[in-house]
Amino acid sequence: MDLRNGGISDRRVLSAVELVPRDAFVPDVFKDRAWENSALPIGAGQTISQPLIVGLMTQALQVGPRDKVLEIGTGSGYQAAVLSRLCRRLYTVERIRELLVTAEERFLDLGYRNIVTRYGDGTRGWPEQALFDRIIVTAAAGEFPEHLMAQLKVGGLMIAPMGGEDAEQKLYRFRRTADGWDEEAMVPVRFVPLRGGRIA
Ligand code: SAH
Repeated sequence: MDLRNGGISDRRVLSAVELVPRDAFVPDVFKDRAWENSALPIGAGQTISQPLIVGLMTQALQVGPRDKVLEIGTGSGYQAAVLSRLCRRLYTVERIRELLVTAEERFLDLGYRNIVTRYGDGTRGWPEQALFDRIIVTAAAGEFPEHLMAQLKVGGLMIAPMGGEDAEQKLYRFRRTADGWDEEAMVPVRFVPLRGGRIA
């Protein structure tokens, strides 16, 4: 899979993606397909995103080494692992407990020590840890994620896929400003929906 031809040019992002073993984040039956540019099932009806989308979202987030970053939707843990190589600390929230437990085991096995996890409804963000320099949402939001925007520093960036489950979705980049935010539409995408509540 060629990330460079797919529009990833940031060298820090390329090396972060190349250093994270994607095969460690997919179920055993899909290990031989881990390096294809496709989304794969991870259980509980959820999917790990295509590596190219992970690369594009990571690049668009413009993460710096001192940044405190929040991810909503831990899923397999793959996107969190990639981001954790680029920032100071990565906070990630997942609402399905079994997925979170598996992701935590992977972080431990692979030695990603700057990832902090939380079981809960990510639409609420992580108020105790706010403010964040960067926020990334990896499930599609049907409505504007206002609680998350409120937890972003002024000048900070948030990447989020917006749109309904069966509707057209687009990736957006938001920049928090002193009195609101700017937004920029990026590429069409296909994500599982962001849902409220938790699943034990
Ligand atoms: N970043 C993940 C992508 C997982 S798919 C990866 O790299 O594998 C999206 C994930 O978002 C799913 O695991 C889903 O359970 C989770 N999710 C959906 N709504 C959520 C919410 N409100 N809070 C936290 N996680 C949520």
